[in-house]
Amino acid sequence: MEFQLPDCVHCGLCLTACPTYLVTGLEAESPRGRLMFMNSLQRDENPANSSTSAIAYAHLDTCLDCRACATACPSGVDYPGILDQVRHRQAVTVSPPSMMKRVILSLAVNKQIRTLGQIFLWTFQRIGVINLLAKGFPTLKGLPKLTFRSFSGNQSDVLPPIGKRKGSVALFTGCVMDNLYTNVHESTLRLLRWNGYEVHIPKRQTCCGALHHHNGVQGSMSSFVNQNIDAFRNHDAIIMNAAGCGAELKDYPDPQFTGKVFDITEFLESIEMRPVNTADRDQSLKVIWDAPCHLVHGQKIQDAPHRILKHFGLEEISFPQSHLCCGSAGSFMLTQPEMAESILKMKTNDIERTGCDVIITANPGCQMHIQKGLTQYSIHKKVKHICEVLDENYQTDQEYRETLIKGKS
Ligand code: SF4
Ligand code: SF4
Repeated sequence: MEFQLPDCVHCGLCLTACPTYLVTGLEAESPRGRLMFMNSLQRDENPANSSTSAIAYAHLDTCLDCRACATACPSGVDYPGILDQVRHRQAVTVSPPSMMKRVILSLAVNKQIRTLGQIFLWTFQRIGVINLLAKGFPTLKGLPKLTFRSFSGNQSDVLPPIGKRKGSVALFTGCVMDNLYTNVHESTLRLLRWNGYEVHIPKRQTCCGALHHHNGVQGSMSSFVNQNIDAFRNHDAIIMNAAGCGAELKDYPDPQFTGKVFDITEFLESIEMRPVNTADRDQSLKVIWDAPCHLVHGQKIQDAPHRILKHFGLEEISFPQSHLCCGSAGSFMLTQPEMAESILKMKTNDIERTGCDVIITANPGCQMHIQKGLTQYSIHKKVKHICEVLDENYQTDQEYRETLIKGKS
């Protein structure tokens, strides 16, 4: 483990970008403070038995790895790269992942167990006891309406375009999106097909590895990387609708592969999209865009979502805190519930002040966590994925409804 702390000039310009600093006001919970901790850990030859190391790791554990500090830093400090090294060392030499983390990591890769969990949750929703369960597991308050089957377990391998064929793409199905947000995948499929793209769903694809990577568990990364590169070998464009997975795939050590990975917003912005009929729409709807960290900071995609919403005639209202993490951060909302809750409270307060009706985002973890916050604080607003919103807008077109909704071709 070796990095250069002198890159950091201690200017503090990253502090107000850091959600954990904003909610605690503590230097130790800021990027600058954490860089100091990481510097001392680098020099500590026996971190497993040192009390100062234990304190340092405790403050590093509460870092969301949201990367907002890297965006804010004028000196180009590679905070995420340094954190990766430290977390890897922590997992290998100091504290192996907790039981909860291991369960979460195995759920990400084991589709059968995930699908079983989906069926249980679907049943609990159907018989009306999900709210009772949510008293013990508050994350369930953010769950969308579930389906009985996973998206990938219910789809053909290839779906034709509607109208003139412009090209062919492949969809990355992921884990949370595949089981809990099947409707978002369905919307994504319709958007792509309606705009002239044949969509492939390669069955050999696997977990992107983001949760393993961010928890310092890098042992299985090469098998995820190799399997995904192989699964998408024959495709020229891989479409992502989960910002966290997209950032991870764009980080794979194969430029040929990473050059084919597109977030759905950057892909839609790059093509000529079919027009939308806005006449029958509720014109008073006020929307805001909440930027997922791994889209805005991880993939540096800032403007594409705004331009697409504008193309669809949707007027956004101002939301200056859009770039701040909501507190979900992959498994963080489960492993650091107190910090995740404080950050969520800040986010929901900021959202409430905008006076919006709908919050639009592009990552399942953010969607679930923010919805949970709105539900528990009785803020009557809905969080939607950008693909759901665009799909709903296209549904004002009769041909769209008849070919893609009613016919389900
Ligand atoms: S903005 Fe960059 S240089 Fe300034 S304190 Fe933060 S990490 Fe250090
Ligand atoms: S990654 Fe996010 S939470 Fe961690 S120090 Fe940077 S801004 Fe703060």
